[in-house]
Amino acid sequence: MPQYDVIIIGGGMVGASLACALSGQGLRLALVEAVEQETRSEAGYDDRAIALAYGTRRIFSGLQLWDSLEAAATPIHQIHISDRGHFGMMRMDRSEEGLPALGYVVPARVIGQTLAAAIGKIPELDILCPATVTAVQRTSGAAEVEISREGATTTLSTRLIVAADGADSPVREQFGIDSVATDYRQTAIVTNITPQLAHNNIAYERFTQSGPLALLPMTEQRCAVVWTVASDQAESVMALDEADFLARLQERFGYRLGRLERVGHRQAWPLRLVQAKESVRERLALMGNAVHTLHPIAGQGFNLGARDVAALAEVLVDAVNAGEDPGSLEVLSRYGDWRHRDHKNVTVFTDGLARIFTLPLPALGVARSAGMLALDLLPPAKRLLTRTTMGRSGRTPRLARGLPL
Ligand SMILES: Cc1cc2nc3c(=O)[nH]c(=O)nc-3n(C[C@H](O)[C@H](O)[C@H](O)COP(=O)(O)OP(=O)(O)OC[C@H]3O[C@@H](n4cnc5c(N)ncnc54)[C@H](O)[C@@H]3O)c2cc1C
Repeated sequence: MPQYDVIIIGGGMVGASLACALSGQGLRLALVEAVEQETRSEAGYDDRAIALAYGTRRIFSGLQLWDSLEAAATPIHQIHISDRGHFGMMRMDRSEEGLPALGYVVPARVIGQTLAAAIGKIPELDILCPATVTAVQRTSGAAEVEISREGATTTLSTRLIVAADGADSPVREQFGIDSVATDYRQTAIVTNITPQLAHNNIAYERFTQSGPLALLPMTEQRCAVVWTVASDQAESVMALDEADFLARLQERFGYRLGRLERVGHRQAWPLRLVQAKESVRERLALMGNAVHTLHPIAGQGFNLGARDVAALAEVLVDAVNAGEDPGSLEVLSRYGDWRHRDHKNVTVFTDGLARIFTLPLPALGVARSAGMLALDLLPPAKRLLTRTTMGRSGRTPRLARGLPL
């Protein structure tokens, strides 16, 4: 039976990043991914965008991947948060943090290609794809992972299973770890637009009664749109023709960027919050969407997962260097305890935003306007908010400080 130190289940952005982080550490690694990743290489108007916090840029720098991402990254110099129909407005500016950018908007395609190229060069990593994990079980001092590949079933042995297998995490289920899921009854409609005026590297978050609306600066003067609508209205918004869609969006967003002139292909993402009740067990660590699936309102999901990667890699490498068993509960609890506060803070923050800014009560509108003004005028509170959204609060892993593992 093939033997590994770590088997990563799920080769999405989080699982692939962990494989990069653990490379070169003398560990025997496998990554099991069910779906062959998109191989489309040409850039297109419809690129889906991911906002990376400044802390995530540091992690990608630590993984030696930032150079490949930078050419496609649009820096965010300012974030404007406003409430449609109310007076409140808050600004965050890179100069207040003394950094070149508050974050970066990068096409998901480029992140996927960069990670795929990087994991393909790791000699000690076996990539099993397309292959599906069908069963997992603990044995004494190890764990077994049963995979189905091209109609054949194989069993692998490992000291540690890392579940990076997404919101519905079959591995989480098989280990009997409970999760709490909340359906927001909201759907994010994602597309790209071209406005009449230059975006000037400003990201806009606008709260409207029908849901939050984000416009993120991209290359070629495009903006990535994430527009949250009530799920029972999503179908009709998706069915609008281009002119009507742009008119509806313009009405929600206003004229800060002049007329909205072009729109690309639209995709709809139903939204839910999923929280695993435990993040570690003997021989198992959960990470990324498998442990926290968030509302995309503040673009925090992958950023939180990237910090999981940096923390778990640091804990595992330190443990192995100290002669410890990387799959022991004692070692994995260090990761679980470390990540607990960040998971909780970011979940409470995004869930609170998703709820408070979508309730239509007039008094709430005044309160949140006043709250935004107060935040804008109170430097320490605003600084805390900025640092949380940039992924810079709490204990920072070495990779996120730009240091080697
Ligand atoms: C509309 C929208 C906008 C967003 N914008 C942002 C943003 O701007 N910034 C940000 O930080 N985050 C953002 N996010 C969140 C971000 O996309 C996710 O947090 C991130 O993609 C999660 O990655 P993951 O690798 O944990 O999970 P996934 O991407 O779900 O990957 C899980 C992988 O596991 C594989 N898998 C599952 N089961 C098995 C099995 N049994 N065997 C083998 N493989 C298996 C799947 O095929 C999949 O490839 C956004 C989310 C949405 C919905």
